[in-house]
Amino acid sequence: MANLRVIDTHTHPQVHPSQQVMAEPHPAEDYLARVEGLGIERAAALVIAPQGDLDLTRAVNNAVLQLTERHPGFFFPVCSVHPADGGLALEEIDRVAAAGARWLKLHPNTQDFDVADPAVTAVVRKAGELGLPVLFDAYSPWDAGQPGKFVKLAMEVPEAKLILAHGHGPGFSALLVYEILARYPWWPRQVWVDISATSPLLADGPYVEQFVWVLRKVGLDRILFGSDYPLYDPRAALDAVKGFGLNDDELRAVLHDNAAALLDGQPS
Ligand SMILES: [Zn+2]
Repeated sequence: MANLRVIDTHTHPQVHPSQQVMAEPHPAEDYLARVEGLGIERAAALVIAPQGDLDLTRAVNNAVLQLTERHPGFFFPVCSVHPADGGLALEEIDRVAAAGARWLKLHPNTQDFDVADPAVTAVVRKAGELGLPVLFDAYSPWDAGQPGKFVKLAMEVPEAKLILAHGHGPGFSALLVYEILARYPWWPRQVWVDISATSPLLADGPYVEQFVWVLRKVGLDRILFGSDYPLYDPRAALDAVKGFGLNDDELRAVLHDNAAALLDGQPS
């Protein structure tokens, strides 16, 4: 498999002191050094907004917007707000969208909110109006109802594009609901699944066959590669997906083409 083109849809380069997620700092330069030669052409740079501190939220969003200005065409900015900040969060979405944000990132665990909260629906609706896909962390060990809450959210805001990061982790079989929904003509298929973290988690183990079977049921045109750097090493994440036994067309879609279509607004 020579010349594989890759878009990494899930990275956390540390653009601000508040965004450090590991014991050691993990600047964008570290990511760039690690991915040399891997074929990664673009990477989503994610930040996570605090609650009740709009100054910090703006600073974090500005930091990731500045990173992407320093690496034009490589990093693309995935900004964040806290749903509990209500109208101020919606104003910040307007601001970052105008400043070039490509996607929005929300994290129910880290930001401590319930996916079923109407404030979340308001944020997703706003993002949908502006054409910003919303990438949610979608693995909660303590909210068993979360997969269904995402389905309801997608039904409530059918014009919004949702990306479910980590595909419910070890609970990935819950993704089969999207195969069922796709049978209905009213279902817009506006839900994507990023397989970061879950891919290296399951790699080389007995669940791989089931995971790939479920992803094919969802539709490999909706599956996105991500590394979740620095939690997982991009090379290991890529090796995990390459070891899934996908054919060349499937691999090309997952590693690059699906994300490219989502980013470039092409029909997919
Ligand atoms: Zn992450």
